[in-house]
Amino acid sequence: MSIKITGFETHDVRFPTSLTGDGTDAMNTDCDYSSAYITLFTSSPSLQGHGMTFTIGRGNDIVCTTISQLASKLIDKDIESLFENMGQTWDWLNSDPQMRWIGPEKGVVHIALGAVGNAIWDLLARVRGKPLWKLIVDFTPEEFVKAAAWRYISDAITKEEALQMLREKEAGKKDREAKVREVGYPAYVTSAGWLGYTDEKVARLTKEALAAGFNHFKMKVGANVDDDLRRGTLIRSIIDDPQYATVKRDPGSKELEGKNAGPTGSVLMIDANQVWDVQQAIDYVKKLEPIKPWFIEEPTAPDDILGHAAIRKALKPHGIGVATGEHAHNRMVFKQLLQAQAIDVCQIDSCRLAGVSEVLSVLLMAAKFGVVVCPHAGGVGLCEYVIHLSLIDYIAVSGSMERNVLEYVDHLHEHFVTPCSINDKGRYNVPNNPNEGYSIEMREESIAEYEWPNGTYWTQRRGV
Ligand SMILES: [Mg+2]
Repeated sequence: MSIKITGFETHDVRFPTSLTGDGTDAMNTDCDYSSAYITLFTSSPSLQGHGMTFTIGRGNDIVCTTISQLASKLIDKDIESLFENMGQTWDWLNSDPQMRWIGPEKGVVHIALGAVGNAIWDLLARVRGKPLWKLIVDFTPEEFVKAAAWRYISDAITKEEALQMLREKEAGKKDREAKVREVGYPAYVTSAGWLGYTDEKVARLTKEALAAGFNHFKMKVGANVDDDLRRGTLIRSIIDDPQYATVKRDPGSKELEGKNAGPTGSVLMIDANQVWDVQQAIDYVKKLEPIKPWFIEEPTAPDDILGHAAIRKALKPHGIGVATGEHAHNRMVFKQLLQAQAIDVCQIDSCRLAGVSEVLSVLLMAAKFGVVVCPHAGGVGLCEYVIHLSLIDYIAVSGSMERNVLEYVDHLHEHFVTPCSINDKGRYNVPNNPNEGYSIEMREESIAEYEWPNGTYWTQRRGV
């Protein structure tokens, strides 16, 4: 009997992270990590699909309204007809003749599509009884290509090239899957270096992260160069000190090549969250050369492809790379970043891009251009999502995880039914529950507590 989508619910869920300084950087000074969340209901009472997109507070309601506009198109649709060609389903949702005007393919309308698209993928994975990553790595090359978003990128990669690339990776998929299940997927820590934290808190969190097995650390920069040098020197003094490193790594190994790793094999990255003009970025980052960062993340406006290329060129002689992507709003921006040789590291976002279908296209382009993919995570729900994407990249697309690191932030995982987890080597565990879909289902109690403005947390805070 065919199963249809019968309805949906959206939830505007906001967590009061601004109270603790979590998530603070040079641009985003008071973030309330938020989820514009959707559940799709079907004619099979036990079967639901979950999706969300991430925001940092005000405006989350606008995203929820837009999600409702897009999701209303799904009512009465037979789920197998949506699943039959996920690339086409994505195109159909993305090209609503009226909604398209308020994008196209950017801003609120696109991140709302991210939530809806991901909810459909979650539903598909649950129906097939596999976690999302496993569903996709088990696709044939033809099925993989059919599931991706192709419009506007054929000048960078054709379907035929993608098929060829995926076929070449087929033979090694089983071995790579077994390997990553055993060792986990490499991760890095951002939560030690938020700008709103005191030096004492930064030092304590850095030591804790080292003890947990991590060797890649990211620090927020861009508010004050002297402060950044002081904090960077503090972090380096800890991560380069053999007494704190629980896992010994060889700084000369292939995995750490070109990353400015210190004597214990620890790597420091810096993130400016878009605060500078192009020349300002170049001048500022040069001053941070003594703390030996691997890359500067988001040095300038996320749409400025040629600006990123200029920064990368200017910093190359100083051994500092450029990373961006968490605010790259669609596959065309990534296409141009790659074509212009503007980035060393491609930081896809699981719901800034409009869901899995568009992500698959960017993974294919990055692999073709030989650029390492290190997804953006943190926030709320993003870590739960991105481990799936990195597993797809490693097992089916790029075939490599040795130089990759997936962002990990230790906040808010307790709100999810199947939270992500990290092993004792500081690496992500592989999601393995056949019923967890895309791992993004939020606990009902969490929604009831933090729904804006009438969840119990918010009403109590207002003294209602
Ligand atoms: Mg960032």
